[in-house]
Amino acid sequence: MKNYEAQICVIAAGPTGLSAAVQAAEDGASVIVLEKAAAVGGAANMGMGPLGIGTKYQKAQMIDISVEKAFNMFMEYTHYQVDARLVKRYFEQSGETIEWLEDMGVEFEGAYRYFPQSEATWHIVKTDKGIGPRAASFMNKALYEKALELGVTFLLETPATKILKDEEGCVCGVMGVDKSGEEIKVDCKAAIICTGGAGCNPEMIKEETGFTFGKDMFNFAIPGIVGDGLRMAWEAGADHVPVRIEMAANIEGIDDLPQCIPNVFIQPNLLVNQFGKRVMNEEYMQNATYLSNVVSNQKDRVCYSIVDTSIVKNYIRNGVDVVSMVRTETDVSDFYDGVKMAQENGNDSFYIADTVEELAEMMGIDPETLADTIDEYNDFCDSVDEEFFKQKKYLKAVHKGPFYATRVRAGGYGTVGGVRINENCEACGADFMPIPGLYCAGADSCNIYNDSYMFLLPGNSMGYAVNTGRIAGMEAAEFVEE
Ligand SMILES: Cc1cc2nc3c(=O)[nH]c(=O)nc-3n(C[C@H](O)[C@H](O)[C@H](O)COP(=O)(O)OP(=O)(O)OC[C@H]3O[C@@H](n4cnc5c(N)ncnc54)[C@H](O)[C@@H]3O)c2cc1C
Repeated sequence: MKNYEAQICVIAAGPTGLSAAVQAAEDGASVIVLEKAAAVGGAANMGMGPLGIGTKYQKAQMIDISVEKAFNMFMEYTHYQVDARLVKRYFEQSGETIEWLEDMGVEFEGAYRYFPQSEATWHIVKTDKGIGPRAASFMNKALYEKALELGVTFLLETPATKILKDEEGCVCGVMGVDKSGEEIKVDCKAAIICTGGAGCNPEMIKEETGFTFGKDMFNFAIPGIVGDGLRMAWEAGADHVPVRIEMAANIEGIDDLPQCIPNVFIQPNLLVNQFGKRVMNEEYMQNATYLSNVVSNQKDRVCYSIVDTSIVKNYIRNGVDVVSMVRTETDVSDFYDGVKMAQENGNDSFYIADTVEELAEMMGIDPETLADTIDEYNDFCDSVDEEFFKQKKYLKAVHKGPFYATRVRAGGYGTVGGVRINENCEACGADFMPIPGLYCAGADSCNIYNDSYMFLLPGNSMGYAVNTGRIAGMEAAEFVEE
C-alpha cells in the first residue's frame, strides 16, 4: 500500500473538486486530489458555463438581476423547502467567483439566458470556437493549471474508496486504488467529497428516483459517475437525503441527431400525450425541466411533438421561433435530410404520415381523439388558446401533410443531491451535526432545488459546483488550520 499525506484530500477533480483544491491551496492548505478518470473536469467539460449574479457583464448589458431578486425567486420556486443560508451564500459569492475565475485566465462571452423566460445569469466561457457545448472545458483547464501552480498534487486514475475516521469520529484519511490496482492511503485532516452524483448508475437511479434508465429516463451518463461519493459519505455517517435527477427533457436519441431536428421539434408547437391530448402551454417547452416534469407525469412517460409541412417550411424560410443558447443555429434547412438520415440509422422515434389518422395510428394514439385535438388547436390558432393560454405568436396551425412527430422523453444532466450539508458544506448526520473534517460539495450535495432543477437562473448547477467547491475549500482550510 502506498501512503500519501496532505492536510486536505479532495475526492474528484470535476469543477467542484478543482475549485475546492484551488481555494484550499490559496488559503494555505496542502492538498491532494484523487480523480477516478484519466483527465480532470468531469461532466462540466461538456457544458458551457456557470451562474453569476451581479457581475460586470450583467451591469454592462443592463441586466437587472441582483442577489436579492435571485434569492427571492429561488426560495419561492422551491417553496422554502431548501437551505436558505446555503442558497444566499452561494448567490452572494457567485459574482466574485466569476472574477476569481477571470484572475486565473478564464474569459467569458457575457451573461446569457437559456430560454426567453429565464434570467441572464449564465456566464458562458469564451473559447476560440465561439459559443457552444464544451466551452467550460476551458474553465476546467484554467482551474487545473492554477491548482498545479499552487502545488496541489493530483493522482489521476485513482478512485477514492473509503473515508477513514479516528476514534473520536474525525476524518483522518481516505483510501483509494491507483492505476496499477494498488491500494493507497492518504493521511489527512479533512476530506472534500465531490464525485458528481450517480448519473451513470442505472440501479442507483432506479432505487433513488424510480426512473428506469434508457426506458423512461434518458439522462446524460458520464462514465465513472456512479455514486461513489454518495456511498462513501453515507458510510461515514452523513445523512441520506433525496437523490434527484437534474431534469432536462429532450427528444429520444438526441445525442446522434443533427441540431436541426431538436431545433424544429423543441419549439412551442403542438405537444400531446399518449391519449392525444395537449398537456401544457408549449411556450414553456424550452424550459427543459418543466418539459421533463410534464412528460414524467404522463402515461408511459412519453409525449409527442407534432409539426406539419407548413410549419417546417416556415422555419426553413424564416428560422425557428425560439433560439436556444444550446442550439444557436437558426437555419434548419437540413431538417428533411436529418430526419431521413436518423431513420436510416435505425432511430425509430420519428413518425411521418400524410394524414393525421395515419400519424395517430403510428404513435398508438386514438385517431379520433388526435384529430379532435388538432381541430380544436387549429381553431385556437384563428382566435386564442382557450386551453392553455399560449401567446398568439406561437399558435401555428397543424393542417398540411405530411405531418411529422417525434417522441419527447424525460432526461437530465445526471443526479443531484443525496448528502446532507450545511451552509459551510460540512457533511452532516441525521442530527444535522457536522462530521468533523468531512465536506461535500457539487452535485453530490446539491439539495437546493427541491423537486425541480432551477432553469430560470441558468448556469445553476455548474455555478453551484464551483461555488460550493470554493466554500468547502475555504472552510476545510480553516478547519485544518485550527
Ligand atoms: C452535457 C452537459 C452540459 C452541461 N452544461 C452545463 C452548463 O452549461 N451550465 C451548468 O450550470 N451546468 C451544466 N451541466 C451540469 C454541470 O456540468 C454539473 O452540474 C457539474 O459538472 C457538476 O460538477 P461536479 O464537480 O459536482 O461533478 P462532475 O463534473 O460530474 O465531476 C465528478 C468527477 O468525479 C470523478 N469521480 C467519480 N467517482 C470518483 C471516485 N470514487 N474517486 C475520485 N473521483 C471520482 C469523476 O471522474 C468526475 O471527474 C452540464 C452537464 C452536462 C452533462
